[in-house]
Amino acid sequence: MIVVSNLDPGAGDDELMAVPKRKTSKARKRKRRAHLALATPATSVCDRCGSNKVPHAVCESCGFYRGRDVLALDA
Ligand SMILES: [Zn+2]
Repeated sequence: MIVVSNLDPGAGDDELMAVPKRKTSKARKRKRRAHLALATPATSVCDRCGSNKVPHAVCESCGFYRGRDVLALDA
């Protein structure tokens, strides 16, 4: 059933929008959202100090990157 109010000046036939035919079931909604989980961030291990670090980035604890000291850290 399509209800168009005559009292609302903005609700003419040209303003009809697409409306779902059926309610989305819980199962269908949950199946759709099965792919929406957050992924765990990627980690790698520093070659020098062995701490966890972001891949392809300077180690935050020792300032080491690809075989040389990049950051001047007070350690
Ligand atoms: Zn390190």
